[in-house]
Amino acid sequence: MDGTLKKIASNFLYTPDGIIPRVKVTIDTISGVITDLSRWENIDSEPFTEFYSGIMVPSFVNAHTHLELAALKGKIAPGVGNALFASKIGSVRREVSPEDSLHCMQQQNLQMWESGTGYVADISNDASSFCVKKASPIKYHTFLECFGLKNSNIESLLALRDDSHTLSAHSMYAIQDSDLRKIMLMQEGPLSLHFGESKDEDAIFRREGNLYKWYQKENFNCDFLHYHSITERLIKTIPKDRKLILVHCSHIGKNDIEQIMSHFDEVYWVLCPRSNRYISNFDITKSDVWNERHRLNICFGTDSLASNHTENLLDEILELQESPQFLLKALTSTGYKLMSVEKLPWIERGNIAHISIISGIDSNCNFTQKAKIRRII
Ligand SMILES: [Zn+2]
Repeated sequence: MDGTLKKIASNFLYTPDGIIPRVKVTIDTISGVITDLSRWENIDSEPFTEFYSGIMVPSFVNAHTHLELAALKGKIAPGVGNALFASKIGSVRREVSPEDSLHCMQQQNLQMWESGTGYVADISNDASSFCVKKASPIKYHTFLECFGLKNSNIESLLALRDDSHTLSAHSMYAIQDSDLRKIMLMQEGPLSLHFGESKDEDAIFRREGNLYKWYQKENFNCDFLHYHSITERLIKTIPKDRKLILVHCSHIGKNDIEQIMSHFDEVYWVLCPRSNRYISNFDITKSDVWNERHRLNICFGTDSLASNHTENLLDEILELQESPQFLLKALTSTGYKLMSVEKLPWIERGNIAHISIISGIDSNCNFTQKAKIRRII
């Protein structure tokens, strides 16, 4: 056999057209390019072929994380609820040294890559993660996240901005209207917003709930309380042609979904199941967005290690009762659209090989609770 060729076979291959059984992939080890795809009949009679039990998948998209918070693993106990979580995150961040933070970000970046993630929509509040992202094989898109009800961080973010970053806002409850409108005028492009993570976000507009109580205690004067809900504020302040990435959406009602879908041209609904469970013990499958999932652009995110145990996307989806086709589409083709990936990284002839294997699947390719993912190339 030509020594520069590597042959990899598996029980299944995930493609944009579905799941194909018994596929062998040939890769030129010098260029890294896939030179051939074929079907195998009897794996024992395939010479010089590495066999991996499971399904071969291309690089996944993590549609929402905060790499900057990698050092905060376990710093906030599970189950405290969103208002307390949001009020604590600033102070626990200040307890971490820049050296520890950098080390944890490098570890997280590596673990994401090794667990099959190739694209990440990442949130930044400062420049501390930029060097990690730049040196990574993962392709990142950075959203510079504007927030602040007393002192806005817009000026400090503007100093960091370059062509690879997009100015965005934290949410519909943590930024003044005047600042949100300023951002809309400064730049076009996608927006990534935390949206409907708890009932408290809408309650602010009724001057009720835990977030509102915290705002009163801190003497935050909000200039957006004339709206009636986060959905109304979203529709009235964001132009309809902005690509919209809505994160969490665990407490968004059917009516809100209707209004958002009929107003905006392109919306992605990013679910972070394990973060919801960690922060507020909420099960995403009890949400209206999950009920409506088959007509929405669904993606998945890990949020951050402050509210999750790992940054492994397979762990994120294993407890969801859904077909592998639906779950893998959310992690690949819908995610690629969200990230505007130009050269789609499918495992096909002519593409650079980036292949991970999910093992622990049954004969119909359903993920079992023992399913694991690892990158093989
Ligand atoms: Zn987040």
